[in-house]
Amino acid sequence: MRDILPPEAGRFEQLVAVFAEIVESAGYGRLNTPLIEDYGVFVRIGDATDVVSKEMYDFTDHGDRHVALRPEVTASACRAFAQHRPTPPWKVFYSGPNFRHEKAQRGRYRQFEQVGVEVLGVDDPLLDVEVIALAWEFYAALGLRQVDLIVNSLGEPADRARYVAALKEYFTAAGDALSAASRATLVTNPLRVLDSKRPEDQSLIAAAPSIADFYDEGASAHFAAVCAGLDAIGVPYRVEPKLVRGLDYYRRTIFEFQGGTFDSAQNALGGGGRYDGLVEDLGGPATPGVGFALGVDRTVLACDDEGVFAATPRQLDAFVVDVVDGTHALALTTELRRAGLAVDRAFDGRSMKAQMKLANRSNARHAVIVGPDEVATDTVQLKPLFGGDQRTVPRGEIAAQLRKSTSS
Ligand code: AMP
Repeated sequence: MRDILPPEAGRFEQLVAVFAEIVESAGYGRLNTPLIEDYGVFVRIGDATDVVSKEMYDFTDHGDRHVALRPEVTASACRAFAQHRPTPPWKVFYSGPNFRHEKAQRGRYRQFEQVGVEVLGVDDPLLDVEVIALAWEFYAALGLRQVDLIVNSLGEPADRARYVAALKEYFTAAGDALSAASRATLVTNPLRVLDSKRPEDQSLIAAAPSIADFYDEGASAHFAAVCAGLDAIGVPYRVEPKLVRGLDYYRRTIFEFQGGTFDSAQNALGGGGRYDGLVEDLGGPATPGVGFALGVDRTVLACDDEGVFAATPRQLDAFVVDVVDGTHALALTTELRRAGLAVDRAFDGRSMKAQMKLANRSNARHAVIVGPDEVATDTVQLKPLFGGDQRTVPRGEIAAQLRKSTSS
């Protein structure tokens, strides 16, 4: 887990604000769920997944309840839906931290932030298209260009079950040609063998059965409609029949956004899919669902790699330099801040030179300087810090002068 210092933490906030603007404009409302939930809520993600079996921060609280820090938000959103029964369609978005006990490295942390959406109560494949398009627009709004969209369908649960059985047979027949780690995965979660990045597994994976041969008519039609919808709105994508996602609850459409500047092991910027069935598992009525989660930490790294969406600290209007006793700076900063201006100052009775150094470093547009002469004449010196002449301004006009130069 890491500290995120200014101005980087502000950049995270700005990125979340860009996301919120896009999804709120499409009718999604913010959902806040607790960081801690009953352990059982997260087990629904799938007890054969690493997220649940190896990476959960779970503990017994003082009331003897088995609880966990959330590793993701979809299960919490479905729990909230089952509990509060809002009228569907329920279109929500969220942002916030998640916790997974992973091996930390660049782009992979034990506390990481996600933004995401969930929609409950709609079966229409055109909703899958809307959801995918929102994520696409978000990356575009940040200025990212090297983002690939990969889509697949896992079919209906029965299709998926037949496919999993076929995979099991195929990989079992391969025997020792499969890596030891993948042979272990094969026992618990055959689908995840397709996720193996080990070189010795790649040719076997390439020749493995394809999920596309197992769809029933409904699943085929749904997926075809999703692809046609993406074509219609000009969102480029690639169908990847071997794409599986880490969590167990997905059915039919799944998708992933991959960053072109990353190693393949860490290149997922975000992903999602349909999870018809999860609300029911959590005690609610049978309700279709679709959504995605995008990793904020990794998206920020992608922005660095592509040189876009730089951190922009708040531009200050003025930095007050008081070489009398500091009380004039107190009065001026208070007055100017109350007038809606962004203003900072120095403390500790520093010299004029030291205060001017801070003023320059603050990136403020102006220094407002008060010395004994200014106090005597009820004026201040207004010094533009990005070029221009210093001038004397009556004390009472300083707010208006600053506002004028800000808007010009
Ligand atoms: P998931 O919830 O596993 O589908 O992950 C969705 C996105 O969250 C991923 O594509 C990553 O961008 C991000 N993510 C997941 N786990 C981590 C992690 N441990 N550290 C940083 N980002 C993560």
